[in-house]
Amino acid sequence: MRLVLLGAPGSGKGTQADLLKAELGIPHISTGDLLRAAVRAGTPLGLKAKAVMEAGQLVSDEIVLGMLEERLAQADAAAGFILDGYPRNLAQCAALETLLARLGQPIDVAIKLEVPSELIVERIAGRAAEQGRKDDTPETVRERLRVYAEQTEPVAGHFAQLGKLRVVDGVGELAEVSQRILGALPAGAPSAA
Ligand code: AMP
Repeated sequence: MRLVLLGAPGSGKGTQADLLKAELGIPHISTGDLLRAAVRAGTPLGLKAKAVMEAGQLVSDEIVLGMLEERLAQADAAAGFILDGYPRNLAQCAALETLLARLGQPIDVAIKLEVPSELIVERIAGRAAEQGRKDDTPETVRERLRVYAEQTEPVAGHFAQLGKLRVVDGVGELAEVSQRILGALPAGAPSAA
């Protein structure tokens, strides 16, 4: 199962991807996590990405694609994956499709988690207190939400045109939301449950 998880910052994508990973037995690949690891490790790529991330803007398509290609080439991704945070704009969407077509492994489904914006702001404030992410400040969150609406929403439209988009209500208990996601997956999806 090759799955793309879409949803605004704070919609719970990362948490749900971790739960799904256990259910489906496929890796959770978060470009945000890959970038944060590069920033922590102080790699040249991390140094380039740091200021862009702290401003709530998108790191260059080229950097993120290179990182993603490397990650997808690892053995555990052969059986499928849950992509979280990628594609973030239509150019990334096209790059992903070209890459996966070359591997003969197209995306099966895109799940969009829908959460009202008041709740998003509340959730991110909670996460900021818990995790201390540098990009969870109120100004940066506003910018990330703006970038999401402007650049990432069209990606959902693209998957809808392909008939691959499923919209899932992201409000509720974690287990409840993950059951909704599992229920929205195409029939025959492998499950470790
Ligand atoms: P996330 O953890 O997905 O919210 O990502 C945190 C930050 O990492 C974003 O605000 C961007 O600055 C950067 N980032 C993550 N994924 C991407 C991507 N696919 N393209 C560009 N920038 C990204």
